[in-house]
Amino acid sequence: MKIFKGILASPGIAIGNAYVLNRFRLSVVERVIDRAEVKGETMRFMAAVESARGKMIQSIGAGVKNLTENLRDILHPHLQLLNDPTLIDQSVFTIERELKNAEWALKTTYDNLAQRFERIRDPYFKERVHDIEAVVDKVMHELMGRKEEGLESLTEPVVVFAHDLTPFDTAQMSSKHVLGFVTETGGKTSHTGIIASSLRIPAVIGIPKITKGVQTGDPVIIDALTGVVLVNPTDHQFQIYNRKRQQFFYHDRELEKESKLPAATLDGKTVTIMMNIESSHDIHTGSKHGAEGIGLYRTEFLFVRDNRLPDEEEQYEDYRKVAESIAPHAAIIRTLDLGGDKVSGDFVEEPEDNPALGLRAIRYCLRNPAVFRAQLRAILRASVHGNLKVMFPMVSSIEEIRRAQNLMASSMRELKKEKVPFNRDIEVGMMIETPSAALMAEQFAQYVDFFSIGTNDLIQYLLAIDRGNQKVAHLYQPLNPAVIRLLHMVIKAANQNNVAVSVCGKMSADPLYAYLLLGMGDVEALSMEPHSIPKVKKFIRGISLYDARKHVQKILQLQHVRDIKKYLIANISPLLTEGMFSELTVED
Ligand code: PEP
Ligand code: MG
Repeated sequence: MKIFKGILASPGIAIGNAYVLNRFRLSVVERVIDRAEVKGETMRFMAAVESARGKMIQSIGAGVKNLTENLRDILHPHLQLLNDPTLIDQSVFTIERELKNAEWALKTTYDNLAQRFERIRDPYFKERVHDIEAVVDKVMHELMGRKEEGLESLTEPVVVFAHDLTPFDTAQMSSKHVLGFVTETGGKTSHTGIIASSLRIPAVIGIPKITKGVQTGDPVIIDALTGVVLVNPTDHQFQIYNRKRQQFFYHDRELEKESKLPAATLDGKTVTIMMNIESSHDIHTGSKHGAEGIGLYRTEFLFVRDNRLPDEEEQYEDYRKVAESIAPHAAIIRTLDLGGDKVSGDFVEEPEDNPALGLRAIRYCLRNPAVFRAQLRAILRASVHGNLKVMFPMVSSIEEIRRAQNLMASSMRELKKEKVPFNRDIEVGMMIETPSAALMAEQFAQYVDFFSIGTNDLIQYLLAIDRGNQKVAHLYQPLNPAVIRLLHMVIKAANQNNVAVSVCGKMSADPLYAYLLLGMGDVEALSMEPHSIPKVKKFIRGISLYDARKHVQKILQLQHVRDIKKYLIANISPLLTEGMFSELTVED
């Protein structure tokens, strides 16, 4: 029996036999061609591209029943990659000018692109190289007349183990045949992770060399509630996990049934529970899970999806759809949080040594006022179609918020002159996700209508721990006393200065962290990824705010993460009912 530990990508428990997807790399031979061969070689290359395109369209079609909007958004850019001048023209160029065979030309183009991606630090964009790899692989198989091993031929339910899964593999997954999956690569922001959770297939990712530790046919268990994978488990473990799986299904269904009930505490305070979205397509799922508005719309995904700047009109249409679909609830549109090395194409800036500390978010927008203005105008125009609010990310000084507001005011003046309707009283807020913004919360309160605390970045910047770096992941501690003190300070400052405060970082989605946050003061809303909503709502219905405040006062006296964790596990985790899991109660 072997046990592996990975990253949770999509919750659930899967029990079954392993199917190891072995994708061997095709070895490519370099061959110099004759001038007379150039035309034929180019045609062979283009025919392979066309054939790959045909198969990709077919596989999107085959997976059509499963295709969530999210997945569609991911697959279509894949098809577009086959029109990408860098990929296609560069390969043709190598055939024509360097007189190389088509396979070698394609490999050289890919190697060059991959080198460029190597320099990208942002994990989300870095991982996009796998999308290009998947497409190149398809064309290469066509060129060499080889068949790619895929999931389309699965006839029995299995647990898939793979180095990585392309979005095409996942498009072919139906929950009937794929009970769950485990991959070697992938971080929390990888497409594999995003897709797994939208298909609701249990998945654990990021276990290096797992495909060497398991063979097709081995009995396996994936516990995607704690991130554990068991290969060849004992009978006793089978029994335990079978029970755990039944409980999970049962509790998930039960939680779902109550997800429309408000999150009102035992002592009568109602907390608004909202959803974080990356695309307007996520709204439907979030609403089904009981979301009462959108607490964070990460609009950068709208910008990076097609790797170009959407114009004001396109953005207006999107924000209008968001406003209308969520009305009468509110939607907080966060202005662009990208910059530095995050994207190529229209956005290109010089690569930065420290992109997390570089020209990103509000800094990027203030440096590119035309981009910023188009987004502000689009939000303002859409604001008459529902209850839209606007929020600025990564603010670290009063000057920034003033400059952003000046641009907002001038966009309003323009629209007024153009006689275009907009909501003059639109609420304007900021994220508190830099230590400087947190320390100056009292002063910032004079300038904005609301704060939304971004704990993901606030923890990263406060503790100086890169949130995407596996090597220091154990030091990324929401329970570090410095984090707790700073959060407490911000919530108090907001309350004392009558500015609404919410939390939209990942801490909101964990019941025990949510308990701490609510005990720190008057927190109006918690915003989280949709599938955590039913759990957090139910948890809040079982707690008293009065007690939470008393516990927070005691926790504020503690100096060690370990003591705070122990305190929460001893005193608060008994409030978790079955099916509600917290990362604090997971054994390491
Ligand atoms: C955060 O930093 O907590 C946050 C919600 O923003 P993002 O995760 O998009 O950086
Ligand atoms: Mg952030």
